Amino acid sequence: MAGKCPDYINDLSDYLDGGVSPELCAEIEAHLGECRECRIMVDTLRQTVTLCRAGAEEPLPQALENKLKSLLRQRWEKKFSK
Ligand SMILES: [Zn+2]
Repeated sequence: MAGKCPDYINDLSDYLDGGVSPELCAEIEAHLGECRECRIMVDTLRQTVTLCRAGAEEPLPQALENKLKSLLRQRWEKKFSK
């Protein structure tokens, strides 16, 4: 199961934007229910998104989003390559 986590990275930011289908949304939420790592990721992303929006009322800038994703990916790869 844990090996699937990196597959969710791209979906998680869409999920926070409400840009996923109901099916994918349910799948992500089911995964979040059993995966602490992804819950932490969503919390982190959600806080970042909230902070960004509170400041500018704009979507998460693409550059920041890409940076976040690569950060998350690195963290995951480190964690699951052990
Ligand atoms: Zn996960």
